[in-house]
Amino acid sequence: MKTLDKPLAPGGTVGIIGGGQLGRMLAMAAARLGLKTCIYNDAADAPAFQVTPNAIVAPYDDLEQLGNFADACDVVTFEFENLPAHAIAHLGEHVPVRPGAHALAMTQDRLTEKTFVEKLGLKTAPFFEVSSAEQARDAFGKLNGRGILKTRRFGYDGKGQAKVMSADDAEKAFASFKGAPAILEGFVDFSFEASVVAAHGANGQFAAYDPPENDHENHILRRSTVPSRLTAAQVKEAKAIAKAIGDALDYAGVFAVELFVGKSGELLVNEIAPRVHNTGHWTIEACQCSQFEQHIRAVAGWPLGDPARHADAVMENIIGAEADAWETLAKSGALHLYGKTEARPGRKMGHLTRLKPLTKL
Ligand code: AMP
Repeated sequence: MKTLDKPLAPGGTVGIIGGGQLGRMLAMAAARLGLKTCIYNDAADAPAFQVTPNAIVAPYDDLEQLGNFADACDVVTFEFENLPAHAIAHLGEHVPVRPGAHALAMTQDRLTEKTFVEKLGLKTAPFFEVSSAEQARDAFGKLNGRGILKTRRFGYDGKGQAKVMSADDAEKAFASFKGAPAILEGFVDFSFEASVVAAHGANGQFAAYDPPENDHENHILRRSTVPSRLTAAQVKEAKAIAKAIGDALDYAGVFAVELFVGKSGELLVNEIAPRVHNTGHWTIEACQCSQFEQHIRAVAGWPLGDPARHADAVMENIIGAEADAWETLAKSGALHLYGKTEARPGRKMGHLTRLKPLTKL
């Protein structure tokens, strides 16, 4: 079993599970710090393979290849959370995995996650476990007429979710999940959505970025804008929420807390993402240390970087065929394209960040 008691010196190798755009931007940040990466992905055309010297293509539960991966790395992290828990546990027997299996398990399941958040004294939408048609009807009866049924696991970008307006709807939606355990949440009539991207070091250090306001279209993030409409007091509260979560999970790395901002100003925790996050991409241009560099620093045991913002920023995702306009986009801001060849509808192909002079919060 390898250990990492001291910061990983330049020349060391950070393993990244998942080769999407997040893995790609992590690898680029690691390279800037003089660290190498080895990227593990289940398909050969991963965008991150274009920017790393070491690649492994194998299924995420291939224990032999995971063993080879562990041999090639000094520390391992991941860029998406829907990984088999036993694969992470297996890796953890050979090489430090940051954040660890505990943080992953806690955030992979919406019921465990929301129960954990509630126990910390933080607010969430009302939620109820739904594992049967009867529970679906009962849970709906406890809401005030509107809810969202969500699968407990493996949901992203609105997948595995259904709006329900009656007990019949709730029962039908549960049937459509084909037996997958779910939770029913009360519908939150929020004023807007925000998120805090923050880093927690293995040694207890903490650094939070200013929370952006996030707009979604068709369940996909359209834009993140910073500063948001949050007041200075709400910004402080949002960062304190992230700190409470990071401390309680004994977390190592960057994570995001998605928030609903209620009509009377209350902050409700929607979801925790145990990884770098789309709503933090603006930090590449607007902060001295981006979320990607920050994550690499945290998992490599380095001191955390300064999360202060030196500019206002608007980050827009480039989705599907929008990427065809790359020449025009290249003239209008900091353009990031992820090297994906096929522009399927709804696929995140890149993003564009525009900076403006800093508004102090
Ligand atoms: P999630 O997968 O939980 O992040 O949900 C995706 C999006 O669905 C959120 O960003 C919200 O826009 C919306 N949403 C999720 N849960 C609720 C809720 N309880 N009330 C209102 N909107 C929600």
